[in-house]
Amino acid sequence: MEKQQKRYRRAFALLGGFTPLKTDCGVLCEKRCCGGDEKTGMLLFPGEETTLPVREEHGRRLAVCGGHCNRNERPLACRLFPLFPVIDARGRMTASVDDRGGICPLVQHASEVRFSARFRHRVARVGKLLFRYADSRAFLEDVWREMEETRQVRDTFLPVEEKT
Ligand code: SF4
Ligand code: SF4
Repeated sequence: MEKQQKRYRRAFALLGGFTPLKTDCGVLCEKRCCGGDEKTGMLLFPGEETTLPVREEHGRRLAVCGGHCNRNERPLACRLFPLFPVIDARGRMTASVDDRGGICPLVQHASEVRFSARFRHRVARVGKLLFRYADSRAFLEDVWREMEETRQVRDTFLPVEEKT
């Protein structure tokens, strides 16, 4: 467990104070991604510890924040959002928008948004770091499957004008 915490502390340090945009995107949308209640939560990475209450769902652990947390202790998923590390077609670790939740306006308008290059780069570096560990790698692959399924459903059911 301590080894896993060390890994996540390194990930936190890599992300540091980098944010998706140069400005505070929470001002634009009134922090929609932090609008959780007692029924929703942020997915925790394998062995990731948190001071927030934890709920188990389908073998996964969710940190249930109710929309409030100590920002310095927020889970890794919150620090990465709305991007997530992925492997591109050329086999390189990069950062992609995480369109699973459908709540973030930056994701909905991703083609027009200028994400911070530094943030993208750091998200990719976190992906490289985590990919070295079997449990984190399995977790990443699981999330990638979910992202792919979300895309397939969206592409199948949404009219062209609603696709991002
Ligand atoms: S929902 Fe998106 S735009 Fe809003 S605070 Fe979260 S990451 Fe920023
Ligand atoms: S844990 Fe904090 S940063 Fe993450 S969704 Fe909740 S309030 Fe937002």
